[in-house]
Amino acid sequence: MTDCLFCKVRDGEIPTDIVFENEDVLAFNDINPQAPVHILIIPRLHISTVNDVAENNELIMGKLFSAAKTIARQKSVSEDGYRLVVNCNAGAGQTVFHLHMHLLAGRALTWPPG
Ligand code: 5GP
Ligand code: ZN
Repeated sequence: MTDCLFCKVRDGEIPTDIVFENEDVLAFNDINPQAPVHILIIPRLHISTVNDVAENNELIMGKLFSAAKTIARQKSVSEDGYRLVVNCNAGAGQTVFHLHMHLLAGRALTWPPG
């Protein structure tokens, strides 16, 4: 996808603070952090929203969770706790249409979210 912000991040066209990567997944600090730790975890493959996840993407979706677990440990937030959020479509607050998981930690996180 040529006009996708996170595809540009993946391709190195936008300078980004990468915190984790492997062959399927990339993770970087959110530009507008909502918590002391706020990391975005994306599949390298362009998938616009959760609605677009296909059966052959299931392995990659699992890898987002594995990356989250690894990053949480690296950031020393595994035990205190962290929140994983995936917004799907505008009504849920999705603004970048390349599927991404938010990893939020480092402060008390209330429930329900806004
Ligand atoms: P959404 O609202 O789609 O769930 O999350 C998009 C996230 O991307 C937001 O938290 C926003 O701050 C972040 N973001 C938007 N543009 C950039 C950017 O250019 N670089 C980084 N690192 N994060 C971005
Ligand atoms: Zn994309």
